[in-house]
Amino acid sequence: MIPMRDREETPIGVDVGEYNLYTACPVDLPDWRGAHAVCGDDLCQRLDDFRREVAALLASSYDRATIAAYIQQRRDALIAALDAAARTVCEYATAYDDPVLVTEDSHYSPDLWAWLTDPDAHRGSAWLLSAAHLRLRAVAAEYRLPVTAVTEAYSTQECHACGVLGTRELNTTVRCTNSNCHVDTVAADFNAAKVLARRYYPGRCCDYRPRESAHSGDHQALAADGGLRD
Ligand SMILES: [Zn+2]
Repeated sequence: MIPMRDREETPIGVDVGEYNLYTACPVDLPDWRGAHAVCGDDLCQRLDDFRREVAALLASSYDRATIAAYIQQRRDALIAALDAAARTVCEYATAYDDPVLVTEDSHYSPDLWAWLTDPDAHRGSAWLLSAAHLRLRAVAAEYRLPVTAVTEAYSTQECHACGVLGTRELNTTVRCTNSNCHVDTVAADFNAAKVLARRYYPGRCCDYRPRESAHSGDHQALAADGGLRD
């Protein structure tokens, strides 16, 4: 009987954020230079501009149908930009054997109107991050790339090498607090991508064990960030 598979899948962790829109790397990447990151600056700037423009339009004498058509046009352009970024992730992943994209579980729905009109809305949580997740899944389907979700908890703080919760510095860096670990500081997005890739394997799902931890700084690290994503 011919075996169904003659090689193992390669989990590719994909972190979604604003600083880097997508950061992707496999679990056993020997050098961070082999990871793939798409800068989020352009999309963040476009979303900020969009919000200002819509506020001006809503205060203008333009009729609602005209404004709605303009918003739809701009939204389509944003989706196209997300799709283009997601394609680079899929192209990167297809260089590996049997790639599986591993993302965090995301339960939010993108609400562009909230971002455009709610003064308390946060750019990432209102639209960008959930839209980026959805578009990655849609584009991955075009590439016939499987996508799986793993638990998000502490993925932005856990050290990819030892599993201990580190501290966030300047919101872009994680410092490992385990003196026995070879990791000192690591770029947060790259670290998170590798943590997500690790969690693809059973038993590697969130190494953080509060009751077993010998590191008194863990709770302080949690309190500092609240466990929230950037
Ligand atoms: Zn570590």
